[in-house]
Amino acid sequence: MRADLHSHSNASDGSCPPAEVMRRASAAALDVIALTDHDTVAGHDEARRALPPGLILLPGMELSCRLHGHSVHLLCYLFDPGEPELATECARIRDSRQHRARAMVERLRELGAPVSWEQVTTIAGSGVVGRPHIARAMTEAGVIESPEQAFGPEWIGAGGRAHVSRYALDPARAVALVRAAGGVTVLAHPRAARNWSMPDDDIAGLAAAGMSGLEVYHPDHDPAQRVILQRLADRLGLAASGGSDDHGELTGYRIGCETAAPGAYERLVAQATGAEPIRSGQ
Ligand SMILES: [Zn+2]
Ligand SMILES: [Zn+2]
Repeated sequence: MRADLHSHSNASDGSCPPAEVMRRASAAALDVIALTDHDTVAGHDEARRALPPGLILLPGMELSCRLHGHSVHLLCYLFDPGEPELATECARIRDSRQHRARAMVERLRELGAPVSWEQVTTIAGSGVVGRPHIARAMTEAGVIESPEQAFGPEWIGAGGRAHVSRYALDPARAVALVRAAGGVTVLAHPRAARNWSMPDDDIAGLAAAGMSGLEVYHPDHDPAQRVILQRLADRLGLAASGGSDDHGELTGYRIGCETAAPGAYERLVAQATGAEPIRSGQ
């Protein structure tokens, strides 16, 4: 069972429409693909309709959380998308993302960078406006040479001159919200170098709060980190999940490059009650 449990479409900050994500997942010979756009389930219907035979769609989302002032991402799957409290919190995160993106564009203009809100929304298309779109606008305007440069302290990285923080959930509360909606949660890329590294004690706290898995197999984790994380997952009784975190063009079309450990997908599904994995024709 090859299960890539982390991917993005243009319903958030990926470059491919959900249907194309499904086609690429099938072409990568995956058995399971999870669509986990940031704070939205907007891509699920299109993905469901486009699902090729033989591929299972695990409906999911990557929730924006914050702990000790640091950004934390929580993958969630098989929750009831109509559960009002979770849906309300997601809408609140998306609204604040938009306000924050606008505020960052204003700060960039004050710093002399010739980017406009119109340009950023054009790049975002129908997706949720986020920092990657601002980074692309900055690149197009010649402010920086490549989008990655936008995420440093000079610009819109955490603590950067044009950075503005936004609403995010406490991860333990997010775990509880998703559970109340029948879903399961997995801590995303806990050791990615570009992110804050959550201490083991905090991870143990989330496991005790009902979190089901840890994303061990992620492109940003080196071999040594994978060994450590796999041990941590075993010790805490967490499923050792994995996924490509593919964003289409932005990450070089890498869907299927990482998969969950054997049995991890089945363990997650067994703990969820809010929805079912989707097969073609359903
Ligand atoms: Zn993430
Ligand atoms: Zn992601």
